[in-house]
Formats: sequence, C-alpha cells, structure tokens
Amino acid sequence: DRNLSEADPEVRSIIDSEKNRQFNSLELIASENFTSRAVMEAVGSCLTNKYSEGLPGKRYYGGNEYIDELETLCQQRALAAFHLDGKKWGVNVQPLSGSPANFEVYTALLNPHDRIMGLDLPHGGHLSHGFMTPKRRVSGTSIYFESMPYRLDESTGLIDYDMLEKTATLFRPKLIIVGASAYPRDFDYPRMRKIADSVGAFLMMDMAHISGLVAASVLADPFEYCDVVTTTTHKSLRGPRGGMIFFKKDPVLGVDMESAINNAVFPGLQGGPHNHTIGGLAVCLKHAQSPEFKAYQFQVVSNCRALASRLTELGYELVSGGSDNHLVLVDLRKALVGFLTSQLYLHFEILFRVSSMKGLDGARVEKILDLASITLNKNSVPGDKSALVPGGIRIGAPAMTTRGFTEKEFVETANLIHEGIQLTLKAKKSVQGSKLQDFLKAVESAEFPLKDSVAA
Ligand code: PLP
Repeated sequence: DRNLSEADPEVRSIIDSEKNRQFNSLELIASENFTSRAVMEAVGSCLTNKYSEGLPGKRYYGGNEYIDELETLCQQRALAAFHLDGKKWGVNVQPLSGSPANFEVYTALLNPHDRIMGLDLPHGGHLSHGFMTPKRRVSGTSIYFESMPYRLDESTGLIDYDMLEKTATLFRPKLIIVGASAYPRDFDYPRMRKIADSVGAFLMMDMAHISGLVAASVLADPFEYCDVVTTTTHKSLRGPRGGMIFFKKDPVLGVDMESAINNAVFPGLQGGPHNHTIGGLAVCLKHAQSPEFKAYQFQVVSNCRALASRLTELGYELVSGGSDNHLVLVDLRKALVGFLTSQLYLHFEILFRVSSMKGLDGARVEKILDLASITLNKNSVPGDKSALVPGGIRIGAPAMTTRGFTEKEFVETANLIHEGIQLTLKAKKSVQGSKLQDFLKAVESAEFPLKDSVAA
C-alpha cells in the first residue's frame, strides 16, 4: 500500500502547506484548537472502515464487537469527564458535529413549527439556534421551527434576561437554548431554568465553545439546570471534529429523552457513526479527566484575562467590558474613540488618518492581521448594521494556550494585534520588519512547539 506522498502528492502537498500555516501563525480563532497526536492517530485509523448503524449491542451490521467496546468506553468517559451519574444522564456520541447535534435535539423534542428561542446570531448566538433575517429564514432551524431570538442589553453587552423573560411569556416557546459562539461571559442557568419552567419549555445548553472549561469546572455547571446539553468536541475540549448530546434519563415534560434523542440521531438524521471520530473522542475524553487538562483550562481563562486587560489598557472597548471565559470580543467601532484618546499625545497623525478613514471594521482588521499570520475572525457586535462588514473581532485563547502561551505571551499578542490595527489605520506601512515579524519568528521556533500535535 502506497503512502500519501506516493499515492497523491497533490493532496500531500496541500496538507503540508496547511500544517505549515498552522505551525507558523498565531492561531486565535476562538472555536479552534490543536488536538493531540494520540487523537489524530485514532482518527486516522482503520476505525473509518466500519459500518455500525445502531447503538452498542443493537447494530444493523455484523462484526461490531470492538466498535461496541469503543463506543461504550467513549460514552462512559464522556459521562465521567462531565462528572455525571450514569443513572441520571445518558449520552449519544454519534453526532457528526455541533449543528447536526442541535438539529437532532430539535427533532427529538419538537414538532415541526414549534416555537424556540436562542441568542440572536448578531448578538453572539449560533446559526443553528434559529437565525433568520427579516427577509430570509437562513438556518434550517428557522425553516423548520418558529424562531424568536433573544438578545443582549446593548448598554452592558450582557444577555438581557429581563427582556428574554418578557418575550418568553408572550411567545411561549417549547424550547429555550442557552449557549453562544461569541459571548465572553458565563450564563445565568438558574434564571434560564426559571424562565423555561414558567412557560413549560425544555431548557437546552449548547456548550460547544466552553465544554473544555465546563469539564474542568472553570465555569458554572449547565447539567445542574438543563434538560439536554449539546457540544462540539473540537473547540476548547480539544478533541476531533464531532458532537455529543447529553440527555436526562428521566422523562422531561412527558418525553422519554433517551429514546427520543437516540432515535433522532439514528435513524432520524444520521446513518453510520464515524467510528474513527468516536475513537479520537474517547482518547480526548480520557485526557479531559487529567489534572493536566484542568490546569490547561485554567490557563486558557487566565490568558484570556491577560489579553482582555492589555487590550483595555491600549484603549479598546470590549463587549461586556472583559471576559470570564476563553474569548474576547473587541468592538472596533468604539475602539476608535478609546484608541484615539489613549494615543492622542503620541500619534497625532493617526487622528488625522482615522478621521479620513471613516471607521474601522472587523473585516479589514482580520485581513491585515492575516497578512501577518495572526489568525482571528471578524465578528458582529451589538448594534452592527452589516454581518459582512461587522464592527468587531473575536479573539480566542484555547489554541495558543495549547502551544504553551502564558499571560506574558498573550500580553504581547495584544500588543501585536494593536500594532496590526495601527497598520490597518495607516494602511500603507509594510508589515515586514515590524516587531510582529520578530515575534512570529519566536512562535515558529522551538520556543512554542506544537508538542505532539499536528502529527499528520
Ligand atoms: N454551537 C455553537 C455554540 C458553535 O459555536 C458552533 C460552531 O462554531 C456550533 C454549534 C456548530 O458546530 P459545527 O460547526 O461543528 O457544526
């Protein structure tokens, strides 16, 4: 059997280029991470060859004795990683990713066109929580269910729980979704539970972004209050790309959660499980129970705080004023004012240039930083008019923390982002020869190795 270089040099070369990009850049996308060599080995294994529709012990194909063992182990580790009692909670580890996991929950618990409420996408929610515009039902969730998003209080950047409660009382959703893709604070689960109970709704938590932090008990425990919890497995949890659904074993609102969720996954919306992913996930979930993993998650939060406070010192305004978790959201529209005040005496010329640039947006900053191998993403911030040219950037700490960054390097990262933004403002100055380049050289060097990651 030929290896990849011999069988397909074209694909080998693309993978090498991507590996090089990952190795030589500052990876600050809040939803990304570097998984381990052990996870990658499992994902690249013969497990990918096997069909195993059904659940352990109840398969539609022969030859599944080892797959049964693997999936059962993965389920047990998933419950253990989130400190759950297997008598009260069950888990399905087959969802192909986060969006399918969410749709599987809706399929299990709702009828078509039932009402749901999730955080609005421009305010930090995820597409799969029911995003729609006045003109178009964008996400499948909003096509098949009636979605009424809740939002942030724009003056504080925090979820407006009072307004959510009022809207829920009028709209009477059957499902309320907690969780976000770009929210720098923790969630008020007791309040959400109270609101859900007051209207007879299921309460679901999508902890995709923060599942690693939840496993390490760095953030509040959603399992205490929610009926069902979904997650991706490749973000702060640092596993392979995939999804999981945790469900209460006791019936909720008359629904047998276990059979409803399991049937929605298969045969409802999926066919054969991706056993190679389940293998990688089992490896990740073993690691997620280690003291080292816990220390990593605490470091993520501490790094993020260091990043947030340095950005604030530099005059940037952060949505909600800071961060409790792994990400910060910078409001660049407001940054102009803060930035100018802090820099006024140093850089008079910038004042002139800013006033001639008519505002800074996340799209331009993302592009400029990309040229300097700093990878982050543009992001909507409350009050934005356009999702294509949003006014903010989202910066996440998990990936570079995996590579060994501490608070010191995140302060330097904030300085470099600032330098990149200044370059965006000046627009002409070359990135070459700047401090950015020196720092990136250090990142490339052995100082911050990818350790055992990116094995392929
Ligand atoms: N849920 C949340 C909160 C997310 O942020 C994301 C992705 O970023 C998803 C679900 C969807 O995950 P996937 O991209 O794996 O479908």
